[in-house]
Amino acid sequence: MSVDLQFIKGIGPKRAAVLLRELEIATWEDALEYFPFRYVDRSKVYKINEIVADMNYIQLVGRFMSREVVGVGTKRRLTAKFTDGTGVIEVVWFNNIDGMASALNGTDEYLLFGKAVVYGGRLSMTHPEMTRTPDMQKLTGTLQPIYNTTEQMKRIGLNSRGMQKIIEAVFNSILPNEIRETLPSWLVEKHNLMRRRDAIRVAHFPHTMAELEQARFRLKFEELFYVQLSLLRNKNINRRSVVGIRLTSAGTHLNEFYKNHLRFEPTGAQKRVVHEIWNDMRSGQQMNRLVQGDVGSGKTLVALMSMLIVSGNGMQACLMAPTEILATQHYNGLQSELCGMGIRMALLTGSTKTKERRNILSGLADGSIQIVVGTHALIEPTVTFHNLALAVIDEQHRFGVQQRAMLWSKNTCPPHILVMTATPIPRTLAMTIYGDLDVSVIDKMPPGRIPVTTEHYFHNNRNRLNAFVRRQLQEGRQAYVVYPLIEESERLDYKNLQQGFEYMCNAFPDYNVCMVHGKLKPAEKDEAMQRFVSGLAQIMVATTVIEVGVNVPNATVMIIESAERFGLSQLHQLRGRVGRGAAQSYCILMTDSALSRDSRRRIETMCLTTDGFEIAEADLRLRGPGDLEGTAQSGLPFKLKISNLARDSEIINFARSCAEEILKIDPTLSHPDSVVMSEQLRRLAANKQDWSQIS
Ligand code: ADP
Ligand code: MG
Repeated sequence: MSVDLQFIKGIGPKRAAVLLRELEIATWEDALEYFPFRYVDRSKVYKINEIVADMNYIQLVGRFMSREVVGVGTKRRLTAKFTDGTGVIEVVWFNNIDGMASALNGTDEYLLFGKAVVYGGRLSMTHPEMTRTPDMQKLTGTLQPIYNTTEQMKRIGLNSRGMQKIIEAVFNSILPNEIRETLPSWLVEKHNLMRRRDAIRVAHFPHTMAELEQARFRLKFEELFYVQLSLLRNKNINRRSVVGIRLTSAGTHLNEFYKNHLRFEPTGAQKRVVHEIWNDMRSGQQMNRLVQGDVGSGKTLVALMSMLIVSGNGMQACLMAPTEILATQHYNGLQSELCGMGIRMALLTGSTKTKERRNILSGLADGSIQIVVGTHALIEPTVTFHNLALAVIDEQHRFGVQQRAMLWSKNTCPPHILVMTATPIPRTLAMTIYGDLDVSVIDKMPPGRIPVTTEHYFHNNRNRLNAFVRRQLQEGRQAYVVYPLIEESERLDYKNLQQGFEYMCNAFPDYNVCMVHGKLKPAEKDEAMQRFVSGLAQIMVATTVIEVGVNVPNATVMIIESAERFGLSQLHQLRGRVGRGAAQSYCILMTDSALSRDSRRRIETMCLTTDGFEIAEADLRLRGPGDLEGTAQSGLPFKLKISNLARDSEIINFARSCAEEILKIDPTLSHPDSVVMSEQLRRLAANKQDWSQIS
């Protein structure tokens, strides 16, 4: 019954192939679920003198005054001046230049629809949609949907308008009842939701705002409802069916550590969290717990104590970190903290030498190594354990759900899983991203911490900054200088980094400067890090490879170069590298003097607060979910097509309570009333798998 996309009138094999490649649209159902990301109110016509920056798509009515073809080759373009009597805007075409040039005339009145750009006081609009005003009545509806499309798509006429035509073509070639209802009818009625087929049509061809809101609510609800249903059901299944390794006592190691090795008293928050972990591990069920704690809150100690419980019970624990630097640092830290306790530990990363690797693998397999620290190398299939009881994953946001799952298979009875993250996230997001985990929060910082002072400097303040850094170094402190490196391959960034290194060497000839970045060989990276950790080098010039987890309490200065190029949460992570000891620390945000509005707000936020949650919220407000969304999405059972985890928190809460209510009555979704839901879950899961195999 299902029509093939390529046979639909107006699509054809070529467009179908591009849709598949660019947007993963394979079927007509996929096409219908490709929703507009925005709607423009086409009942409103602006005046040219009302145009301001950041306005996006608007409509203008007026006449062309003049036109001119300028430039050659790829720069060749048609520019025309357009006026409505209140001002002039330049309209530009790069395609179909000659056709447009002859079609434009100075007498007709046109309605233009496009993105208005203000640049250096000049107004322009590129490739607007144009309608002669006498034809205006033909426009359908007043809300025009805007679809995201790619360059490849635009090249074959699939711009936003083209996408809408495709959707229209799909609607014309199917019957309304071919659009399946995916929610049980009792649920649709109970909450007075729009039917799915109506909602989809309205989302693409809205007439009124009220109707559109209802439609989008219905579609978002459905999507988020299934996310929650899937997460909660899995959690239930795990609870009931996954038997965990039961630890019977807190073991000798933890006791000994507590008596003889503790360098400082754990905070109340740390003790509480260790207690929660201990309760999980002796419950007989598998632990799946997330420990959330801002940078510097002392997650490492919690991990350490948890691993000692395990090793004290004669079982194995592993600690997995996202980077080699961090793994090495954890390993060295553990070695010095546990020195003399007779615990055999190992470090396994991608650069572990073959012979040593062989030793480690056999030590893990026969159980003689009790604690292993490492990177992704730990989850490789060649790594087998004698009796792995606990896997700790540090800085979870770099690990996907799949990788977490791979750890399960390292023991016949799945090991307890402890995930540690510093990413501060609002509650609704947390319960979605980590919907299948229990959450512990380290909500207090170790005592004696002085909040980091953050200041904004411009490049022309460099001398003042150097004088300040010098005073800190004279007091025996250390400093970081971080350069942005968005793509590890960006040549320009490396040049900046290199120059920054040379600059610091020249400006501080009597101090040692080291440099760390992702392109160094692991041994070189290690050596440079080690020089800084041991205090041999006082200044470290680095890329964001040091963003996560690095711990050098004696460092009190963090200079972030081109700070405007970093996101808020990244800035927060970087700042977290200082302020880890008892001395006052400083974070210097270095920027150009010309800053965009958003950059300025980010910098201001950083100067105003050191609270991770406040920063996360500001980040959401400023930037939309961004990275967080990426992180969040990777933790979801399937990809979101219409909802937004950051903005739709109310719908998430509602969807979650609906899902909870249903699962309370029918935990396995086997009641006849639940058939629609269990089928839809199966379909969504199957869809996801198909794609992972292709990409
Ligand atoms: P994060 O949560 O960012 O991983 P770490 O575990 O690296 O934080 O701890 C940050 C710093 O705080 C380290 O130098 C650590 O030794 C110190 N620290 C941790 N717990 C305490 C505590 N209870 N009292 C004092 N200092 C502590
Ligand atoms: Mg850490």
